[in-house]
Parts: sequence; structure tokens; C-alpha cells
Amino acid sequence: DWCDIEDIIGTSLQRLRETTQRYILDVKVAPDIPLLKADCVLLEQVMINLIDNAMKYSSRGSEILIRAEPKGGTVIVSVSDNGVGIPEEDLTKVFDKFYRIQQPRHVSGTGLGLSICKGIIEAHGGVIWVERRPNGGTTVSFQIPTEEKAGLPERLANK
Ligand code: ATP
Ligand code: MG
Repeated sequence: DWCDIEDIIGTSLQRLRETTQRYILDVKVAPDIPLLKADCVLLEQVMINLIDNAMKYSSRGSEILIRAEPKGGTVIVSVSDNGVGIPEEDLTKVFDKFYRIQQPRHVSGTGLGLSICKGIIEAHGGVIWVERRPNGGTTVSFQIPTEEKAGLPERLANK
């Protein structure tokens, strides 16, 4: 199917509306964003997981940024929060099945969310990664080609 990432972000936020109302959401989708040849239901699942994490691991009332922009035959989508952040040494492990950071975090979960996101994004020929924000908090981004054979995302090509 052809998916409109702006619609996917909208329906994901709608699904999470009970919780998102406790946060300040700032959503910006580039006006020239191309459609994606993708499984829209699975991409919605990825967005829900990422937004759920951003809320779970940050305080009520804090700001969550969602961005989507085109980049050379791909689209990059990111979700940023001002939450507890991920220690440097855990950045690569958070995509492992059942991996949860051991810290005084009274937040429940199975540790599957990000590994499922990784599987879905890679099935679309894309990549997903996580970064520490300079002033604390986390950004999780994914990049997928707008069409099959559109070329490898920069991050894969550089590997
Ligand atoms: P669930 O399966 O319900 O999603 P989970 O949220 O614990 O459980 P993942 O979404 O896979 O599992 O995330 C793995 C771990 O990475 C989390 O337990 C958390 O420690 C850390 N993490 C993920 N997203 C963030 C974030 N935005 N800020 C801080 N830590 C995060
Ligand atoms: Mg999660």
C-alpha cells in the first residue's frame, strides 16, 4: 500500500489519546513528504511503540517532538522526548528482545517494543536507531526508502 506518514502519525496519536493529553506534543511533517510503499498498519504499530516509550520514560507535561522529513529517496521519522534518557552503554542493546534497562524506573513493559519496531523497519528495507539528546532525553529515528529499490538509506550504505 501507499502510506501517508502524516495520517499514520495522526491515527497513532488518536489511538494513544488518553495518555497523549498529558504531554505537550509538537508534530511537524514536511509539506513535500512523499508517500511510502509500506504496510501502513505495521508502520502505525512502530509509531505507537515509539510514542508510547517517549511518554513512558518522561514526565507528565513534558514535550514530545515528532518529525518527518524526506531525504534523498527516503523518509526519516523521529520521536524525541525530554525523559530519563538511555545510558551510552545501552544504546545498542535496547533493540534486543526482552532488554529493559535496570534502573529505578517504576515503569512496566516486556522489552519487546523496540525489537518489534526494528523487525518491521528492517522488513521495509530501512534502519532504526536511537540517540541521546544533548540536554537529556532520547531521540529514536527510523529511515525507510520511499519505494522498493529506491536505494539503501544512507546509514545502511555507510555500514
Ligand atoms: P514494551 O514491550 O511494553 O514496549 P519496554 O518499553 O520496556 O516494554 P522497549 O520499548 O523495547 O521495551 O524498550 C526497551 C528499553 O529501552 C526500555 O525498557 C527502556 O529502558 C528503554 N527505552 C526505550 N525507549 C526509551 C525512551 N524514549 N527513553 C528512555 N528509555 C527508553
Ligand atoms: Mg516500549
